[in-house]
Amino acid sequence: MLDPSVSASLILDFANTLDVEERTDVFSTVEGMAGWLETHELGDTAETAFADLLTLRAGLRARLLLDNDGQANPAEIAAAEAVLARAPLTVRIGGDPEPADPLRAEGAVAKIAAAWAMTVASGDWRRLKQCPDHECGWVFWDATRSRTRRWCSMRVCGNRAKVRAYTSRHRTDA
Ligand SMILES: [Zn+2]
Repeated sequence: MLDPSVSASLILDFANTLDVEERTDVFSTVEGMAGWLETHELGDTAETAFADLLTLRAGLRARLLLDNDGQANPAEIAAAEAVLARAPLTVRIGGDPEPADPLRAEGAVAKIAAAWAMTVASGDWRRLKQCPDHECGWVFWDATRSRTRRWCSMRVCGNRAKVRAYTSRHRTDA
């Protein structure tokens, strides 16, 4: 089994600050976001970066859902890319990409952008998927060799989808 890299783990945690099933959002308040950023050593820019981080999260989640045959709004991806354009990175010969603007060196947006760049470059992003169940929306790491896992958990969401398919078939029969 393949484990997610440090960068992919950060993206996973970031995306799952929104829990659709539990109807909770760590980022529903500046304080919640600040606490999360502190836990992940991403600086203390919650107040200034609040809107940008929400836009970035929405765009990443949309991308991870589209890539898993789900339906998402491409405008959310475009908006997130506009946020990323304001957080340029410097590519280093001897290390990971870093936030380019020293004034934003502590900026959480730039650090998450760096993690995403690493995740895309390593190919790990193809294993990051958002569960297409509307009531779930959980972002998970697909550790299967074939990279074909679609649901966050066969036990819950996969079965829910099967039951729905069965029920609609049954209705059609009756
Ligand atoms: Zn799910």
